[in-house]
Amino acid sequence: MIRAHIGHGVNRERFRAVTTANVARTPEWALLSPELREAVNVVSTVLPFRSNAYVMRELINWDKVPDDPMYQLTFPQKGMLEKEHYETMWSLLQADASRELIEKEANRIRLELNPHPAGQMTHNVPTYNDGPIPGVQHKYRETVLFFPSHGQTCHAYCTFCFRWAQFVGVEGLKFANNDIELLVAYLKDHPGVTDVLLTGGDPMIMSTKVLRRYLEALMDPELAHVQTIRIGTKAVAYWPQRFVTDPDADDLMRLFEQVVDNSKHLALMGHYSHPVELSTDIAQKALLRIRATGANIRMQSPLIRYVNDDPNTWADMWRTGVRLGAIPYYMFVERDTGARHYFEVPLVRAWEVFQGAYQRVSGLARSVRGPSMSTFPGKVHVLGVSEIDDEPVFVLEYLQARNPRLVRQPFFARFDPKAVWFDELVPATERDRAFFLKPKPSLNSIPLTIESNLIV
Ligand SMILES: *Cc1c(COP(=O)(O)O)cnc(C)c1O
Ligand code: SF4
Repeated sequence: MIRAHIGHGVNRERFRAVTTANVARTPEWALLSPELREAVNVVSTVLPFRSNAYVMRELINWDKVPDDPMYQLTFPQKGMLEKEHYETMWSLLQADASRELIEKEANRIRLELNPHPAGQMTHNVPTYNDGPIPGVQHKYRETVLFFPSHGQTCHAYCTFCFRWAQFVGVEGLKFANNDIELLVAYLKDHPGVTDVLLTGGDPMIMSTKVLRRYLEALMDPELAHVQTIRIGTKAVAYWPQRFVTDPDADDLMRLFEQVVDNSKHLALMGHYSHPVELSTDIAQKALLRIRATGANIRMQSPLIRYVNDDPNTWADMWRTGVRLGAIPYYMFVERDTGARHYFEVPLVRAWEVFQGAYQRVSGLARSVRGPSMSTFPGKVHVLGVSEIDDEPVFVLEYLQARNPRLVRQPFFARFDPKAVWFDELVPATERDRAFFLKPKPSLNSIPLTIESNLIV
């Protein structure tokens, strides 16, 4: 096994978030035109904004701003708010309105932006001793999702993120759990669960000490059936220092080794949006170090207009990933929330991008599946476009489903060149109706606000 000894004697850059409060003091602010600065100030009153010096210095190409993909991914753009919303917030800032008034208007607009994507308010929350376990989702038989309460923020925010509501703290939208004991008790009762997925926000925002508490609890001898621990993270792209030069990076590597020595498969589900995220020395060192612990890295991301809506971008990303030892996993379709009108790509275009990229890479990168929509009944995979009785149809399948019997059976929807999400599709034939399930009211009473599509 390769042992990477990196992180000693190198420049240790400490993490510092860039937000609306301090962005004007960064060296890059001077590179933005007055219009672009205004857009950052206005849009960030409603949608969350967070960046950091590494993203700004190494990943954004300021010569290409505003079209640069990493700028689009991390900086608020004027088009992300509806014109009327933009003007409202612009006027308030112009008039030097009070914080209270700005916050009140911002909240009113936020509630119009579908903060609970796909209507997932009450589904998938499991119970233990008759009580719900908040911060846990059990949707598919084998896999339990856990949202550690200490991991609900990120090293930078993606402008498209469907978890935006929790970052701006809209009342009642937070969903996280501190109670690892309850999760462990639940897992002991459910020997069919093989996978636990820590997600967020970004669990890698946690210090190694805090993360250790969670992971050690999952190494309980009575949880031998939990074979796989996945950690969804964008830190590999936004703050690779976490794995290389942060003060507790070495401890983190020892912790990963401990999980692997415990006979578990440890997988970092790396959220990579663009090949530039893999281009820096430190991002490559991070991958090398993680792999040296015996952990695996998989790559997944949504397809986002202006960021990665082009086959070459994905082919390049998967190829580079494979070279560095990351395994291409999913391409997702962007969810219906926040600034989706700005980022959305028609399903047919998503399929073309996927197919174009897939055709350009070798078999080792073809472990990837997509484009995939995380919908109420399951993960719907767009396989392509075909014809039934001379009528064009989408060919679809479930990669994951609440009802496991639906998985991997091709089914058909009427072709619609404008459709961007599953709920706009209609069954092509009578037989296909069984695949179009609608949510039923749930028995669980606690509000569930985050339906993960595992992009981190
Ligand atoms: C995608 C997903 C999973 C994991 O599915 P895999 O196909 O095993 O990666 C688990 N739970 C939810 C809610 C998901 O969306
Ligand atoms: S997509 Fe992931 S990394 Fe990006 S803001 Fe959302 S939770 Fe954070």
